[in-house]
Amino acid sequence: MDCIFCKIIAGEIPSQKVYEDETVYAFKDINPMAPVHVLIVPKQHIASVNEVTAENSAVIAHIYEVASQLAKELGVAEDGYRIVTNCGKNAGQTVFHLHFHLLGGTPLKIEMC
Ligand code: AMP
Ligand code: ZN
Repeated sequence: MDCIFCKIIAGEIPSQKVYEDETVYAFKDINPMAPVHVLIVPKQHIASVNEVTAENSAVIAHIYEVASQLAKELGVAEDGYRIVTNCGKNAGQTVFHLHFHLLGGTPLKIEMC
C-alpha cells in the first residue's frame, strides 16, 4: 500500500519517534505548527474518521490514553494543548492514514475554522 504513514510505522521512511506500542505509533510532525507537534497514529491502516467502525474503534480510545501520557511527558499537560484530526478535503486532510495532531507549547489560536 502506498501510504507514507504505513511506511513510517514499518521503518521504511525515517521519523522522530516519541512513542510506540503494539497498536499505536507517535512521531514528530515534519512541519511543526507549534513548539510541540506530534502525530499519533494507529498502526492499522485506517484512512480517515470515515473508516472508523465498531470493529476498529478501540484503538481510538487507546490513542487518547497515549495522548494524555505524552502530553505529560512533553510538558504541555498543565498549560494545555489541542488534539486535531482532519477528515477529508474540506478539513484539509493531506495524509489518508488516520492521525491525531497533538499541538502545544504555546497559546494556540482560538478559531476552530
Ligand atoms: P493532515 O493535513 O491533517 O493530513 O496532516 C498531515 C501531517 O503529516 C502534516 O502536518 C504534515 O506535516 C505531516 N507529515 C507529512 N509527511 C510527514 C513525514 N514524513 N514525517 C512527519 N510528518 C509528516
Ligand atoms: Zn497507512
